[in-house]
Amino acid sequence: MATKKTDLAKRATDVLKLLKREYPVAICELTHESAFQLLAATILSAQCTDVRVNMVTPALFDAYPTPEKLSLADVSHVEQLVRSTGFYQTKAKNLVAMSSQVMTRFGGEVPREIEDLITLPGVGRKTANVLRSVVFNLPGLPVDTHVGRLSRRLGLTKLEDPVKVEYELNAMLPPPEWGQFSLRLILHGRRVCDAKKPKCEDCLLEKLCPSSNLPTKKKVVKKAVKKTVKKVIKK
Ligand code: SF4
Repeated sequence: MATKKTDLAKRATDVLKLLKREYPVAICELTHESAFQLLAATILSAQCTDVRVNMVTPALFDAYPTPEKLSLADVSHVEQLVRSTGFYQTKAKNLVAMSSQVMTRFGGEVPREIEDLITLPGVGRKTANVLRSVVFNLPGLPVDTHVGRLSRRLGLTKLEDPVKVEYELNAMLPPPEWGQFSLRLILHGRRVCDAKKPKCEDCLLEKLCPSSNLPTKKKVVKKAVKKTVKKVIKK
């Protein structure tokens, strides 16, 4: 039977309450000192870990601290600086083009509106929502691989498309909670609900998670009944 929308919203609220208790402070792990730097770091984080991105951004921001400076950069030099993040040629090209458009179209200021942000090279909804929620304190729910996986495991969505997942989650929670909900799911995904080996035995969401691999009371009772039935049949 399909789960009702109100039940899903209740489950999302319960998940949020528990995650808030477990992770009272949830911060973006990409090192940055400005909206521009976070935008550049988030572009670099595609298919790459935050740890790796944080290793390359000090040299990048040292050489090109502002959109003005990066817009004038030689792409091949940027390629060298960001090489270890993977897909470095595309990322370097996008960083320079993004900076150039921030200068020419937005007067050197990173825009706040999602409709503007997603027109910049290398910027999709996930990146736009990171910017909105982390630096502008505006509603935005970035759906990355952790948020997508946990939302499906927790039964909040069945969808795979991150944009559709974002819209579904948005409908379940108040806008001021969107960004922190995403950050907390990411923390929980990294620490407990691993893609390959979820640690359900250590998970504070275990009781309300339909994907828990622990035997719940229901499952235990079912197993016991099955055993008894088998025994009776054998006799
Ligand atoms: S109970 Fe297991 S599958 Fe569910 S959220 Fe926790 S770790 Fe992930």
